Amino acid sequence: MPRREQQQRMKSNVALVKKFNISHWVKLFFNRLHEIKREQKAHASRKLQGATLKKITDKLAQSKRRLLFLDYDGTLVGFKKEANAARPTAAVLQVLADLQRDPANQITIISGRPHTDLRKWFGDTDYFLIGEHGAWSNFPDGQWRDKPDMPTAWKTPVRRIMSKFTDRTPGANIEEKNYSLAWHYRKVHTGLGLMRAQELADALRYLLPQYGLQLLLGDKVIEVKINVLNKGKAALEIVEQYKPDFIFAMGDDSTDEDMFFELQDSAVTVKVGNKQTQAQYYIENQEDVLELLTQLRTEQNKKTDVSTGL
Ligand SMILES: [Mg+2]
Repeated sequence: MPRREQQQRMKSNVALVKKFNISHWVKLFFNRLHEIKREQKAHASRKLQGATLKKITDKLAQSKRRLLFLDYDGTLVGFKKEANAARPTAAVLQVLADLQRDPANQITIISGRPHTDLRKWFGDTDYFLIGEHGAWSNFPDGQWRDKPDMPTAWKTPVRRIMSKFTDRTPGANIEEKNYSLAWHYRKVHTGLGLMRAQELADALRYLLPQYGLQLLLGDKVIEVKINVLNKGKAALEIVEQYKPDFIFAMGDDSTDEDMFFELQDSAVTVKVGNKQTQAQYYIENQEDVLELLTQLRTEQNKKTDVSTGL
């Protein structure tokens, strides 16, 4: 930078500094410092372990009517190449059954999957099941119902665009659900899949405001659904009717953020994976889910042992 410009800049900086007294500058500095600390705190969900976990299990042990919201893919099960292959493992089914056996616990599986998948895997349980991000639910009596009068006109243009990309991308496929369309690229070569997914997202974006749609960028899937359906609203509906005294909500992707946001004041919210999140806590990865649920079950058993004197 030329010497002359340096001098000019310095002059105006000095003028600004001199304009205010020292207490003004100190105040400004500390205000900004506090602001940054507040921001950091808001973004920093804490890892669910040690004393933090103990605090939560203590709270759980004291409660009498618990509602546990659990996402399915990426939370209860890991990702598989074939969406249909992602059935729950025996260990997951066992820990869920053990939890549900305590009359104080009510499990709710909340997923973007078609309700038929949830029915296939959990149809013989008394869990509350929510499919397609809230479009379908068996709450409260085990009877499946979908939300009436949801718009579907948006599907035609979205399907047309998705089909064009499917034709150009070997291995990609479209999954049609009642109120959403998903473009899967789990089986596409990684580089090509990512590139096409980006192009598809760009191509779809202009349709979103026109039809009131939401674009979800998941793990090897791009999904378009109507805005009015989301896991947050679906979870709140159940909470309002069920009136639990302890709520636990766990999930791994962007659709679970709606749930974390809606339940934030009343629930223990847990993100699977250490990403930016609205959840209060996080665990490292999907493999840790089973361990966490097992710990919750153990705490529940301890409590049962104490109350029965065993
Ligand atoms: Mg998930």
